[in-house]
Amino acid sequence: MSRVFNFSAGPACLPEEVLRQAAEEMLDWHGSGQSVMEMSHRGKEFISIAQQAEADLRDLLGIPAHYKVLFLQGGASLQFEMVPINLLRGKPIADYVNTGEWSKKAIKAAKNFCHVKVVASSEDKNFTYVPDVATWQLTAGAAYVHYTANETIGGVEFDFIPETGDVPLVCDMSSNILSRPIDVAKFGLIYAGAQKNIGPAGLTIVIVREDLVGQAQPKPPAMLDYKTHVDAESMYNTPPTYAIYIAGLVFQWLKRQGGVAAIEAKNVAKAQMLYDYLDSTDFYRNPVEKRFRSRMNVPFTLADPALDEEFLKGAKARGLVQLKGHRSVGGMRASIYNAMPIEGVAALIDYMKDFERQKG
Ligand SMILES: *Cc1c(COP(=O)(O)O)cnc(C)c1O
Repeated sequence: MSRVFNFSAGPACLPEEVLRQAAEEMLDWHGSGQSVMEMSHRGKEFISIAQQAEADLRDLLGIPAHYKVLFLQGGASLQFEMVPINLLRGKPIADYVNTGEWSKKAIKAAKNFCHVKVVASSEDKNFTYVPDVATWQLTAGAAYVHYTANETIGGVEFDFIPETGDVPLVCDMSSNILSRPIDVAKFGLIYAGAQKNIGPAGLTIVIVREDLVGQAQPKPPAMLDYKTHVDAESMYNTPPTYAIYIAGLVFQWLKRQGGVAAIEAKNVAKAQMLYDYLDSTDFYRNPVEKRFRSRMNVPFTLADPALDEEFLKGAKARGLVQLKGHRSVGGMRASIYNAMPIEGVAALIDYMKDFERQKG
């Protein structure tokens, strides 16, 4: 068996230790005689798995007691809609920051529910930076302020948490949750699809401040109401049980790595290595303003796009896969989430150097 270094933006690579443990436990979880996949979500075995996963996530992020943690389905894309449905609370305006493709999707979805005010945008420079917070035109009395902490496609990441006073701050953290410590208390709501930095697709995590739950006007359909899922502790209907189990294993793996601060140090080292190399040559290029370069998703272009196909083919032959950039921007993208070992980044840089030597 040989495993590749998988640079996919999502679904993305998982820690090998976690996959081995899941394989080990596949047929008989802890003497239950069943796979987790086969368990009733209401049985004591699975309930214990879900409770442990929540407890570990709370530990890792230091989630205060007055925040609820939900394990939902529907991806971050459903949150683009559940957020306005639940958090407008009768207010007509929501503020959005536009820093790229995922912000744009969130904005488009919200427009069906309210007046969206784009309070800041980096579209003028092709989404290569985060607008200075001093220039944001925040609306007094807005229902909430929404931003995307890491633009997975553009490779732009906030290096700060904006202050929004009494207006709840809402954040799409799909592609950088658990990659760095955050102060959860600064947010009204955080959401993240699991398939980037947590676990398998099919699970979406929502962390929401208690007082924001149950305030929706008008009352939404049950499945779209956070209150339904809070009251039922994410078991209103069948949750994505296996994805929750794997996420739980990833949380335990993260704790064994020393927690979020320790993984952040590794993420900084990995990203620095790759950006330092990119900056040392004219053969490759990353367009993002240095301060806002993503530690998770590193897009880059080759000086001659005619070499793209050959680059990808040569990479694949060395076991470096999923480097093709998003179809909307082209070029390459290396996603280097928590689970990507530093050896993977080193192998990528070695290959890039060799390719440059041959073609540069
Ligand atoms: C991948 C991604 C999404 C979309 O997630 P789905 O689970 O496919 O709906 C939204 N926002 C960000 C930042 C993403 O990276």
